[in-house]
Amino acid sequence: MHGPFVFERCRHSTETSGPLRTPQAPTMIIVTTAGISDDQLGTLVAHIERAGLRAHVSRGEQRTIVGCIGDEAALAEAGIAALPGVERIMPVLKPYKLASREFAAGNTQIRLDDVDETVIGGQEIVVIGGPCSVEGLDMLRETALAVKAAGGKMLRGGAFKPRSSPYAFQGLGEPALQMLAEVRAETGLPVVTEALDPRHVEMVAHYADMLQIGARNMQNYALLSEVGRTQRPVLLKRGLSGTITELLMSAEYIMAQGNRNVILCERGIRTYETATRNTLDVAAIPVLKRETHLPVFVDPSHAGGRASLVAPLAMAAIAAGADGLIIEVHPSPANARSDGDQSLEPSAFAALMKQAALFAVAAGRTMHAGTAPATMVRA
Ligand code: PEP
Ligand code: MN
Repeated sequence: MHGPFVFERCRHSTETSGPLRTPQAPTMIIVTTAGISDDQLGTLVAHIERAGLRAHVSRGEQRTIVGCIGDEAALAEAGIAALPGVERIMPVLKPYKLASREFAAGNTQIRLDDVDETVIGGQEIVVIGGPCSVEGLDMLRETALAVKAAGGKMLRGGAFKPRSSPYAFQGLGEPALQMLAEVRAETGLPVVTEALDPRHVEMVAHYADMLQIGARNMQNYALLSEVGRTQRPVLLKRGLSGTITELLMSAEYIMAQGNRNVILCERGIRTYETATRNTLDVAAIPVLKRETHLPVFVDPSHAGGRASLVAPLAMAAIAAGADGLIIEVHPSPANARSDGDQSLEPSAFAALMKQAALFAVAAGRTMHAGTAPATMVRA
């Protein structure tokens, strides 16, 4: 098992030296000896940087790994292999480098700024709840209070909506971001919302605690690079026809710009099946957990497309090893301006949370459901 570790913030020379504006492959990892001292580690990083490479230190429970980006030949010339504390140097062979499991000593844990208690990618299953779209301040506040009372740790809500029809509700835009910020201040729930356009990233990052990249934009590389230049955690959704490798390459785009706080989200893929809105690829969860150190979330709402499918898919996600869930909740789903069919009423969300907490224990995780009144959704 990989123990937990936290990417160090960019404070001293052992962190990646500045954002990678021009990503460089290849990438090597230096596995250090179990007892490497801080001095030895400092000397090692200094040598790597003197050789013109970037170093990224990741401390695990058992081992510290130093990821190096740059010219492999320069590393050899600098005599790195002979330094005390170096066990071995290995190339990262996968097409994704920074996102690959080998690049880090353990699972990435993401803490949201100013919110110390919520750790994404740790032992606890973190649930994000909220409406598909922010439709107004009152409904957002009502939903947020219900999400919080049921044990949700973050609030979701779209301000800019990617809709299949240009005539459908496109979201309220910046006023919705202001509402999210206001409800965040009232409830203490950090917020996640989608950035659709590279020109909006700075604005969305100003209001939100986490940026969502929607399924339709998984391969919008300009947008990925732009969110990579912020330090806001990014919830990256899998594209409707994106393979697991493509999803990881999209994470790599974000990380290559210096933002290592990426959360992957399986939200169902398009198959020949029409009984559900999409097909939840449950197997993607353990595959991703093997391939990457990044947290893996599941969106059972967009996968199933119907309220009655949300809880069963959420339980499957937890059983398969998901680190968290993102779920659509609306005070009055029948009147929702988008995705009403798949949105849960607050009492159904509370019921899901109670059930999910039991599955979390069975999966060796923790999860805290609140005390909100709960009613199960009937199939
Ligand atoms: C959403 O979260 O409301 C959304 C549009 O999701 P996706 O990009 O996964 O379709
Ligand atoms: Mn939606």
